[in-house]
Amino acid sequence: MTETLKCLSPVDGSVYAERALMPLDEARAAVARARAAQPAWAARPLAERVEIVRRAVALIGETNDEIVPELAWQMGRPVRYGGEFRGFQERAHYMADIAAEALADIRIEDSAAFSRYIRRVPHGLVLVVAPWNYPYMTAINTIAPALIAGNAVMLKHASQTPLVGERIICALRDAGVPDDVAQNVFLSHDTTSALIAAGAFQFVNFTGSVGGGKAIERAAAGTFTGLGLELGGKDPGYVMEDADLDAAADGLMDGAMFNSGQCCCGIERIYVHASVYEPFVEKCVEIVSKARLGNPLDPDTTMGPMAQVRFADLVRAQTEEAIAAGARPLIDRALFPSDGGAYLMPQILVDVDHSMRVMREESFGPVVGIMRVKDDAEAIAMMNDSEFGLTASLWTRDADRAARVGDAIETGTVFMNRCDYLDPALCWTGCKNTGRGAGLSVLGYHALTRPKSYHLKKA
Ligand code: NAP
Repeated sequence: MTETLKCLSPVDGSVYAERALMPLDEARAAVARARAAQPAWAARPLAERVEIVRRAVALIGETNDEIVPELAWQMGRPVRYGGEFRGFQERAHYMADIAAEALADIRIEDSAAFSRYIRRVPHGLVLVVAPWNYPYMTAINTIAPALIAGNAVMLKHASQTPLVGERIICALRDAGVPDDVAQNVFLSHDTTSALIAAGAFQFVNFTGSVGGGKAIERAAAGTFTGLGLELGGKDPGYVMEDADLDAAADGLMDGAMFNSGQCCCGIERIYVHASVYEPFVEKCVEIVSKARLGNPLDPDTTMGPMAQVRFADLVRAQTEEAIAAGARPLIDRALFPSDGGAYLMPQILVDVDHSMRVMREESFGPVVGIMRVKDDAEAIAMMNDSEFGLTASLWTRDADRAARVGDAIETGTVFMNRCDYLDPALCWTGCKNTGRGAGLSVLGYHALTRPKSYHLKKA
């Protein structure tokens, strides 16, 4: 019997989409076709591949009006934010812009006697496993540079956002990528693992939970498959005594609550210098109290439901446990009558400490804990007291101090006076349980290719 995946809409719990999962034998055949088609794709001129990817991006842009409500139904993003096309395009275009330079041969010698150079060659077939929280942007981070570098791509998108994989691959094909070179596949976890364990892919880029990342690493053990693992986070903010408090409260509350807190680099804990703690907290409460929780298809809604009821339940449990242990919730529940099920009101907790799950484990929801600190040393110790290391957001007018504090933080990215943003020119990466690898930037191309050395003696 064919297994199916069901996308339950967080809007009302209805089945929004249903798709047949690909059986293992069909998935193996799809892999074989992709691998057979890849060399011809890699042999096409780089400029052609770049142009095709750009065309696909434009095609996605043309359908954005259909995509925006689809996203609301699939994962709850309010329509007022207009989808993800801006970031999707920015990332793909940046990677297209730098391709020629990033993939150019590194010339060591070109003399009468020798030609010596290092060339970047594609891995072959790249599996992209993408999450639902920013389903277009997270997927394009790898798909665009992988294809541009000459790889074939197989996309296994999240079961919560099955239409996204279909749309991306359809646009790529309409733009000119051969059918077998870019494929969207609906795979169970077991089928995915079986393929990886059999060495079907030369590189796997997985973006998702720590548990998922471990399963992928286990499946790949002994196959020498290259892995990029972009996993969870518990990203801290640190507000120093010289910060612009209005900007800090605005930026950090947006970082904590946007997308109902379902951002890999969302702000989940904030440390504030004692001298500015009270006014900072007051400003945060004022901002968050204005959120409008409700149906994401309503243009007035600023916060939609979380993608699944179980995600909201986890955040509720973390919050209730913290309150039972002495934390104080500052957002009035009466302001959010639609709270319930997948719809989760935002919350700010004070009087928290690191014995509480809400300050240690990823919440991936609209709750943030705020603690007072006395100096940089204490803030650094707090920020580093975490199993994760994705980003850290520092608020100060002193760039030297931010760089100094940044040097001491175990993190993938240091932000000053901003947060929750992926700059495609910088490397998207993490440390500790956030995983390993390098997405976007010139280093993203290095991850999606392998070096090949040429040592040609002419005489
Ligand atoms: P998830 O459950 O790990 O799912 C993410 C993707 O991985 C989905 O496509 C999922 O497929 C697939 N997957 C999970 N376990 C798998 C397995 N054992 N074998 C094959 N595929 C597997 O993560 P999520 O809860 O949906 O997404 C949120 C998490 O992603 C958070 O932890 C967040 O921090 C992280 N994230 C990190 C980044 C980053 O850049 N570091 C960016 C975005 C999100 P199904 O949907 O079919 O289960």
